[in-house]
Amino acid sequence: MLRKVTFQNKANARRHPALLVVIFIGGIMLFAYAMHLFQQGLQPQSAEQVAANKLDPSLEAAVSAIAAKFICACGNCGDKSLDVCTCPNASKEREMIRHSLKAGQRPEQIIATINDLYGGLKSEFNIK
Ligand SMILES: [Zn+2]
Repeated sequence: MLRKVTFQNKANARRHPALLVVIFIGGIMLFAYAMHLFQQGLQPQSAEQVAANKLDPSLEAAVSAIAAKFICACGNCGDKSLDVCTCPNASKEREMIRHSLKAGQRPEQIIATINDLYGGLKSEFNIK
């Protein structure tokens, strides 16, 4: 008996126009939310950017100053400067610079090490 009543309520609800409107609006809101998530996904923050945001800005400035002396060594970026290249290779090199700075190495040491490992030191900064 009870089961039958419940079933009838559902059946009635399914035909109820107000409920259809609610479902329709709910669907639109879900769609808008999905689009919002999708648009956020279009501008992903790389792990490096997220990490960099938590770091000391003066350290990041020092990393950029050193990276700016190099051309990205990956060979696929059209000789972009290492401080602006967004490829994983550039990210790895900058991470190495960051790590070396934190370890207390002097910029000249780091520049020499990066140049030995990856090359790409811009000619105007060439150490000879
Ligand atoms: Zn690159």
